[in-house]
Amino acid sequence: MIESGFKEVYQLEGGIYNFINKFPDTYWECGMFVFDERRVVNPNTKDELKHIAECHFCGKSTSYYINCHNVECDKLIVCCHECKTENDYCCSDECRKAPRKRKTYHG
Ligand SMILES: [Zn+2]
Ligand SMILES: [Zn+2]
Repeated sequence: MIESGFKEVYQLEGGIYNFINKFPDTYWECGMFVFDERRVVNPNTKDELKHIAECHFCGKSTSYYINCHNVECDKLIVCCHECKTENDYCCSDECRKAPRKRKTYHG
């Protein structure tokens, strides 16, 4: 993230695991993507700007996540806009070929 031009990047004190232990209600709901979460903080206010994670497919920083549209899978994955479209909202090639898929809404 520093390479992407962010001036101040903080690691969560004690790590994500401790954070979840302290605030189980707030973070468990979000699912597995929090384990890859990076936090961006406004240098002036020290307020958190938004959640950033790495795209499941290309590794690019993004704050978007989707549920795999294979209803048998329904895995929560971090996925940038490009990869989301490219992979038909699915987490893998297998899921893309799955017979039962959720309807995709564009727009
Ligand atoms: Zn991507
Ligand atoms: Zn899947």
